[in-house]
Amino acid sequence: MNATAAVAAAVVPAAGRGERLGPGAPKALRELGGVPLLVHAVRALARSRAVGLVVVAAPADGVAEVVGLLDSHGLDGKDIRVVAGGATRQESVRLGLAAIPADVEIVLVHDAARPLVPVEVVDAVAAAVRAGAEAVVPAVPLADTVKRVEPNRGGPEPVLDTPDRSTLRAVQTPQGFRRETLAAVHEKALTEEAAGGLPPVTDDAGLVERFGGRVVVVPGHEEAFKVTRPLDLVLAEAVLARRRASDGY
Ligand code: C5P
Repeated sequence: MNATAAVAAAVVPAAGRGERLGPGAPKALRELGGVPLLVHAVRALARSRAVGLVVVAAPADGVAEVVGLLDSHGLDGKDIRVVAGGATRQESVRLGLAAIPADVEIVLVHDAARPLVPVEVVDAVAAAVRAGAEAVVPAVPLADTVKRVEPNRGGPEPVLDTPDRSTLRAVQTPQGFRRETLAAVHEKALTEEAAGGLPPVTDDAGLVERFGGRVVVVPGHEEAFKVTRPLDLVLAEAVLARRRASDGY
């Protein structure tokens, strides 16, 4: 194995509009503690010694802006590249993956919307792939009981059943993959989509599952939560303020 192959590359899909956060800039460019979410997310990955390259999939009309942003936040220590993302998260990941050199064997995929993932989670995911897993997801147990319902927007929704909570996990990122596994399932998904097939999945491990691969879970972290709604930003500001006060983060 050469030096490049031993080090993982990370893809950061950051091309979403983030409409659930309310109107404004694309989600990845919203600020947390005066710094865009995307910059936090890229920093979190770059902090890991397991990661040698980060590829950001930016909004197609925002590539130059994202390049400028990453430069202005002093992220030039590691190899960071920016490509144009796609119309779906899945397409953005596929485009990011295409920009990774062929000899990189481990790929992590991390949402720009998870700015505060601790480096220990990044390290643990990369280590599990290095140890032989083809797909690894960090996850945490659920606090809430979950019910499956018949969706009925705005109206009462009949409950179908209640899965046993002890068997459920809320899945986070970065998710880690053998590069050939991730590339193969994205390729298959593309073919399937062109044939009018199944809808896009909401995470990359979901694609591996869809095509019969084996995915394993490692412990995630409560601070790796996704910033989706306005309240998540309030929580993220509080976590960041605590980190800045306690360890000069
Ligand atoms: O919408 P959601 O919160 O699930 O998005 C997860 C991640 O996927 C975000 O980081 C978002 O920027 C990214 N995404 C993307 N391209 C899209 C849609 C979402 O890169 N077309």
